[in-house]
Parts: sequence; structure tokens; C-alpha cells
Amino acid sequence: MTAPAARTDGTALPILRTVADLRRCVAEWRSRGLTVGLVPTMGALHDGHLSLVRAALDRADRVVATIFVNPTQFGPGEDFSTYPRQETEDTARLADVGCHAVYAPDAGSMYPEGFATRVIVDGVSRGLCGDHRPGHFEGVATVVTKLLLRALPDVAVFGEKDYQQLQVIRRLVADLDIPVDVVGGPTVRAADGLALSSRNAYLSEAERRVAPMLFRVLRETAAVLASGAPAAPMLAEARIRLTAAGFGTIEYLDLRDAETLAALDCAPDDRAGRLLAAVRLGATRLIDNVPVIRSLGDS
Ligand code: AMP
Repeated sequence: MTAPAARTDGTALPILRTVADLRRCVAEWRSRGLTVGLVPTMGALHDGHLSLVRAALDRADRVVATIFVNPTQFGPGEDFSTYPRQETEDTARLADVGCHAVYAPDAGSMYPEGFATRVIVDGVSRGLCGDHRPGHFEGVATVVTKLLLRALPDVAVFGEKDYQQLQVIRRLVADLDIPVDVVGGPTVRAADGLALSSRNAYLSEAERRVAPMLFRVLRETAAVLASGAPAAPMLAEARIRLTAAGFGTIEYLDLRDAETLAALDCAPDDRAGRLLAAVRLGATRLIDNVPVIRSLGDS
């Protein structure tokens, strides 16, 4: 049991463990006419997560952050057992930023004996991370659906850092008629450009020096693609640069439609594109993405 962290106004940050406690807390807010925001996380919180809490606070009267390391979105051999868990530090940070409650259920209550339902989102879940992490988006979609139905928030905030995940969640909310406004928060980066991630803690000092090259290559490639250049040679050159910088396997590096994630040969002039990558750096898998917005008149 974690001791409740104190909020800046001196009140304790409630840590809710059961669905009943979460629903009671949300119902009490609702009875006072307050709106509710939800920010799902797996904990090991950094400034990227906190930016999402702030975005939720801008849009709702009360904000619940969830902390749940969801076993079903990790594949065999992935880092579920070693994923950083630091609830005391996390709740202190959430209290500081003004979050109103933390929902941190245990795996048994999320997936009790006999649990047999899975949410599968077709289309946007295919390709990219969907190809390299089989079952991942099924696990994400299932747990996010459960969290949304448990809390029934007005707004839920997710990071653009996990861009394909954001599109999967937008799709499932639309398809299942879940009455929630899904908001995407921009990626928060270290000063050298590396996207903040709980998994950056796995990088050695030498790898950490190489890691910012991913964003740099993505940003520079996106700038060229924005002028309407054909994607294939630009992506080939970007791959060469990443390999030369010291990255290992490049799982994907692709220009996609920003909404449907359909593959593109070049940036369209009537829709936003997105350049997305997943690369290995030593034992760590890094993902990142940047917008590609066609600058008309340049080509
Ligand atoms: P995670 O704890 O990794 O499952 O992430 C929880 C939420 O934080 C997801 O919506 C992520 O997309 C988001 N997130 C992770 N890293 C960042 C970042 N650097 N900037 C903004 N949001 C992020």
C-alpha cells in the first residue's frame, strides 16, 4: 500500500485500487457537475507523461492518471518483468502537477480468472509496430477500452510519441461509440531531441549519445519529404545515416498517411503525412515519429 502523496494545495492524492473506488470517485465529481479527464500510463513517469496530465487539466475539471503495466501488450521475450515500477515517485510527481487521483489496479482485477474478451482493431493496427510486436495493439486496445469504460471520462489524453497507438485508440473509440474525446499530446523531448521514454533508462552512456540521431534523421528527412520528394530514395538515405550513426536493426522507417497510416510514395498535398520509425539501439527498441506537411509551391 502506497502512502498518499500530498498535492500542492495540501490535500492527499487518492490512490484508487478497485473499479468500485474509481467509480465512486468519478460519481462524486459528476454529482458536482465536474468534467473528468483520464491519462492512461504504465508508470515510470517522465515529463512526457506529465505534459499529458497538464493537457487533461486544461480540458477537464478533474483528472485521473492510471498506472498499470499491462501484461497483455508485452510479447514473449519483451521487458514486462523488468519494466521500471516506481509508484511512490510516480504518485509524488502526479501530486505536484495537480492530478486529482491515481488509479492503479492490480493485474488480477484487470484480468480476473475466466477473462476471455479481446478488442481487435483492424486497419491501423496492421503494419509498423503491429508487424513487429504481434498481439501488442490487441493488448493495448483491450486495456484502454476497459480503462475508458471503468472511468467513463469526458476526455482521454494519449501521446503522439506512440503515434500508431493513438490512431488505434481513435479508431476503437469511434467504432465502439465510446463517448470520450480523444486528445493527442505532442512528444516531449530531451534538449538534444531524444523523445522521452521510460525505456531510455535501458540505454548505456554510449547509446544515449547516439540516440538523438533518430529524431535528427527523422526531422531532416521529413523536411525533404515535405517538398514533395519521392519517399523511397529519401528513406533509403535515412536508413544509411541511421546505420552509420550506430543503430542496429531498423524495424521500419516509413512515410504514412497521418490518419489512416496507409503507405505513401510521397507526401500528399491535401492530407498530412507522418514519418514513423522503430529502431534497435543495443538491446533497446526506440520508436519516434514526426509530421510531414507538404509545403505547397516548393515542388
Ligand atoms: P506509457 O507509460 O509508455 O504507456 O505511456 C503513457 C502515455 O504517455 C502514452 O499515451 C504515451 O504515448 C505517452 N508518452 C510517452 N512518452 C511521451 C513523450 N515523450 N511525450 C509525450 N507523451 C508521451
